Amino acid sequence: MAKVVCVLYDDPVAGYPKSYARDDIPKLDRYPDGQTLPTPEKIDFRPGELLGCVSGELGLRKFLEAGGHQLVVTSDKDAPGCRLERELPDAEIVISQPFWPAYLTAERIAKAPKLKLAITAGIGSDHVDLQAAMDRGITVTEVTYCNSNSVAEHVVMMILALVRNYIPSYGWVVNKGWNIADCAARSYDLEGMQVGSVAAGRIGLGVLRRLKPFDVKLHYTDRHRLPESVERELGATFHPNVESMIGVCDVVTINCPLHPETEHMFNDKLIGKMKRGAYLVNTARGKICDRDAVARALVSGQLAGYAGDVWFPQPAPKDHPWRTMPHHGMTPHISGTSLSAQARYAAGVREILECWFGGRPIRNEYLIVDKGRLAGTGAHSYSAGNATRGSEEAAKFSR
Ligand code: NDP
Repeated sequence: MAKVVCVLYDDPVAGYPKSYARDDIPKLDRYPDGQTLPTPEKIDFRPGELLGCVSGELGLRKFLEAGGHQLVVTSDKDAPGCRLERELPDAEIVISQPFWPAYLTAERIAKAPKLKLAITAGIGSDHVDLQAAMDRGITVTEVTYCNSNSVAEHVVMMILALVRNYIPSYGWVVNKGWNIADCAARSYDLEGMQVGSVAAGRIGLGVLRRLKPFDVKLHYTDRHRLPESVERELGATFHPNVESMIGVCDVVTINCPLHPETEHMFNDKLIGKMKRGAYLVNTARGKICDRDAVARALVSGQLAGYAGDVWFPQPAPKDHPWRTMPHHGMTPHISGTSLSAQARYAAGVREILECWFGGRPIRNEYLIVDKGRLAGTGAHSYSAGNATRGSEEAAKFSR
């Protein structure tokens, strides 16, 4: 019987919800590329419930305990001696969400001799030292596609919020003002702008498709080119590398995974090659951008705005400069954990666990690392190595 350690974010400050704003969520049959939604044999939760916090337990307790397994759920994941570290020595499975990542560094993996499976309840397994997982033969999985469109929607919202100067304008209303000139002095139309996506995977393509009706000019760069028919449908221009794309773009959205190839890609040098006054939206991973370079570019005016929901590390320390830099539209890491998305990734985690315990293969599209190497989606979208360096800083949030 397995010990399963599940690291989730804290409950709402007002307590676990007793009721919800809506009574149901739409039922989807398939993702846009035809992939089926998660297919567990059963779920023990009502779609639309808050599942990603400690009391939500991803809806797993009944299922795991019925199978004789032990489930430990905690949000205490940072600093030496935290609950996660105390539970690791006999844990077989660790489940974690990117929003509140259980950083599985090489040091922690070394302290978890029984660890066989790391499940990301969401997408993006950069919080696991993938190299160390490969070296130790640990399987790493994520619930591919579960929240890609959730993020794509968020990206469109953030682009519009920055370009149209929504957040400061809302602020004037809340502060009982009517300062139209203050609101309008930084407000533009998106129509006609050149918008580029770094990566055109599930999220990137979703963003491009959602932006097309805004009558913008679309651009993208990726390691693999989209089919010609899709480029034609979108009127999208392919760029062989990020440098050639960002120089022509008014808005750049980052939609690639964090792995050694993309870590700190947007540094002073690259941001310096962007058009002055460009907007940068990053819902992929905080570490794809150089933290201080972004803050500097907003102060100098090289960037007109920066928005996103991803930081490094997470939770972001209280003195993280992105909390206070000008012209930002940052939120905590929330785009992929809408209640709609939670229902999908909780079901996906259940499916992975059912396969694992039943000795059945896990879907190829859910695999990131398997049998000592990158596998499935991991082999397509990631590069080998480690992107967890510096994650110990997350302990500063609660200090
Ligand atoms: P996909 O695997 O569908 O797409 C990733 C794309 O990035 C692939 O097309 C891949 O190329 C491309 N890529 C990889 N490396 C590079 C590179 N160096 N330059 C350009 N393109 C590159 O994943 P998703 O679109 O579903 O998710 C992307 C990322 O978004 C996740 O890895 C995660 O970090 C983040 N995310 C954030 C969420 C949030 O809540 N904010 C939620 C979900 C995801 P190819 O495969 O063609 O080689």
